[in-house]
Amino acid sequence: MYDGDIASVLITEQQISEKISELAEQVAKDYPETGADLVLVGVLKGAVMFMTDFARALPVPVQLEFMAVSSYGSATSSSGVVRILKDLDRDIAGRDVVIVEDIIDSGLTLSWLLKNLASRNPRSLEVCTLLRKPDAVKVEVPVKYVGFEIPNEFVVGYGLDYAERYRDLPYIGTLDPKVYS
Ligand code: 5GP
Ligand code: MG
Ligand code: MG
Repeated sequence: MYDGDIASVLITEQQISEKISELAEQVAKDYPETGADLVLVGVLKGAVMFMTDFARALPVPVQLEFMAVSSYGSATSSSGVVRILKDLDRDIAGRDVVIVEDIIDSGLTLSWLLKNLASRNPRSLEVCTLLRKPDAVKVEVPVKYVGFEIPNEFVVGYGLDYAERYRDLPYIGTLDPKVYS
């Protein structure tokens, strides 16, 4: 599949799966029984694969919510100005909420999202991201759960796309430069 487009495999399917088990164990331990299920908020479309695997790995009941946002800016860098394309279906007031993200690069999108969701008065609000890049340290975004710290390279697979392709790869890899040109 995608013959020759992937330059290298950065994180294998097995590594992803093991990391998700660790993250799920950690998250499950942190949330006390409150009588209300934990709410996972997945950010479309990149976080879909992670969200579904993560939800199934969690040994506690969760409810699944999705948001779609578009950030104004170029294709490769975000500006921090965000528009909601699809909002949550439910009120999160009083609920324990975990934002599930595929990757944090500049952190601008997430920073906006955190403010937006915090204004809806959840009981608690945390972030769980599968990947984080080094630039993410520039913006002060509190991220409690991080799967992998990765180098500053453009990656695809496991939900992450280039021009809407490669989301369906079961692993995370880097693209051969010939794909961009
Ligand atoms: P931020 O606001 O943190 O800069 O933007 C994060 C978003 O940019 C991610 O949700 C993702 O859509 C996109 N992004 C950042 N780095 C990468 C990358 O290496 N590969 C892909 N496919 N998307 C990325
Ligand atoms: Mg994302
Ligand atoms: Mg994308």
